[in-house]
Amino acid sequence: MHSSRLPTTGDSIMQIAFIGLGHMGGPMAINLHKAGHRIHAFDLVPAACEAAKAAGIAIAASSEAAVKGADIVISMLPASHHVEGLYLGRDGQGGLLSHIAKGTLVIDSSTIAAATSQKVAQAAEAAGIAFIDAPVSGGVGGAVAGTLTFMVGGPDAHLERARPVLEKMGANIFHAGAVGAGQTAKICNNMLLGILMIGTSEAMALGVANGLDPKVLAEIMRRSSGGNWALEKYNPYPGVHENAPASKGYAGGFGTDLMLKDLGLAQEAATAVRAATPLGGLARALYAAHSLAGHGPEDFSSVIKMVQKRS
Ligand code: NAD
Repeated sequence: MHSSRLPTTGDSIMQIAFIGLGHMGGPMAINLHKAGHRIHAFDLVPAACEAAKAAGIAIAASSEAAVKGADIVISMLPASHHVEGLYLGRDGQGGLLSHIAKGTLVIDSSTIAAATSQKVAQAAEAAGIAFIDAPVSGGVGGAVAGTLTFMVGGPDAHLERARPVLEKMGANIFHAGAVGAGQTAKICNNMLLGILMIGTSEAMALGVANGLDPKVLAEIMRRSSGGNWALEKYNPYPGVHENAPASKGYAGGFGTDLMLKDLGLAQEAATAVRAATPLGGLARALYAAHSLAGHGPEDFSSVIKMVQKRS
């Protein structure tokens, strides 16, 4: 985690409105606060506001109050309809854009449809507000440690304005292309992650059912040709990684329903260009069945329960 410090030469202290203090947004806002920026944050859920407040962040009474006087607005919300609803309001009325000053930079880090990012960006630019999509990868651990990967869509100039702030929350910043391109990169990555988690679950469950020690099997595969991010940091089998959601009853982390949303976005993107994504489609169906069985709020690595032998 970034240590508490005041901004050094070259950094300028900014007023940042942070909307959405969930699993990801909470620790991201805390890292900006620790870097010395003035944060005015808001979440619809009081408990999320309380947790941020306990870390020293100023909580605004509403998202409209949070953006007052902000140089930069950051949002970290669950899905497309939350982002569109926040910025554009209902039927284009009453959205947050009408409360944001001209010249402000809006950074949306939620994982949403590229088309929604483009729609909000268009409305923002029409109001004289700069907008980039900047979805992230790296999980809650990456959000806490300030080592997220940002995938940015938007003009160079907007990205350069955002960069000093993104650097306080992430270790890698990629410019994927025009507005919406960050979202496209993100859903390609998450489609692969969703598939890999199911594959990793199958292999772990198979080995353990055949008498292998889960930690030994995990280490063998991590260092062999099956190695992947789940085996490195996020093993779906309980007890292999102490800090992974699997070892905490699948609490926290990245919800099954959020993975299901991302796989749906990937299928929409595939349909639009007639791309063949057979494993992505199957993964979506498996996470949907897992969600229907009541595991939607649990971390997506709980998908191992579908293939695990019951004791
Ligand atoms: P979350 O559900 O924990 O947090 C979202 C927060 O947004 C909630 O606290 C909710 O109350 C708040 N919210 C919704 N609408 C709001 C509004 N209008 N105003 C204020 N607050 C509002 O979700 P998360 O896990 O933090 O994920 C956020 C986004 O990041 C999602 O798009 C997800 O796909 C993506 N993401 C998550 C992870 C992860 O590991 N959790 C990793 C990478 C990307």
